Amino acid sequence: MKFKTSHKTITSYFSDDSGYRPSTHTGIDWVIGYGKPVTTDNAGVIGHVDLNGSNGWRAVWVLVPYNGAFMEVCYGHLKDIFVEVGQYVLEDETVGTEGNFGLVYRGGVQITPAMRKLGSKAGSHVHEQYRPVRLVKRKTKGKHYRPYKFEGQYVEIIIENNRRGCIDPLQFKTNPRDILMEALKKEFEAVKKGKKDTSTLRILWKVVLKLFK
Ligand SMILES: [Zn+2]
Repeated sequence: MKFKTSHKTITSYFSDDSGYRPSTHTGIDWVIGYGKPVTTDNAGVIGHVDLNGSNGWRAVWVLVPYNGAFMEVCYGHLKDIFVEVGQYVLEDETVGTEGNFGLVYRGGVQITPAMRKLGSKAGSHVHEQYRPVRLVKRKTKGKHYRPYKFEGQYVEIIIENNRRGCIDPLQFKTNPRDILMEALKKEFEAVKKGKKDTSTLRILWKVVLKLFK
């Protein structure tokens, strides 16, 4: 799993406790500039797109093959979204643009909706988070699924290089099997119509075989 930082300014880390709110931050916030293209750091399949979330939670979830399963990489608070569910995205492919949403403090001051209404872009950022997709057999409504020691709403996990991600057992957005099959179908149709070569199709097929053998 890659996480490219050279073009980003990180403004908030996982579980950051700035003193203004409890440490419930479930991802990493970073800034490249309002309206600038948000690109993927890893190739994958779009698993979920949220266009109408509350508080500007417009987000894209990319399923990235990881350790024989999938990691769900989410890019949130986007202004524009250019991808759809089932689409295969390459590394460095643009999925959307940086938006001006979410709860943000700058220099100890909250960027309020009123400030944004007046044109402030000081709260512009992208929220990126990682979550392993687990194929759970049983979903219990209203109860926490507890695969790990639980401390609050989210479970912190260490991914690699000490990068920190989370599991939010109540909100699994994607069923990787369905999404992959949908992606395969789309890719197959594109190849059939002569719109694409078979390279992506072959990669996808390999992922499917590896994951569901
Ligand atoms: Zn965030």
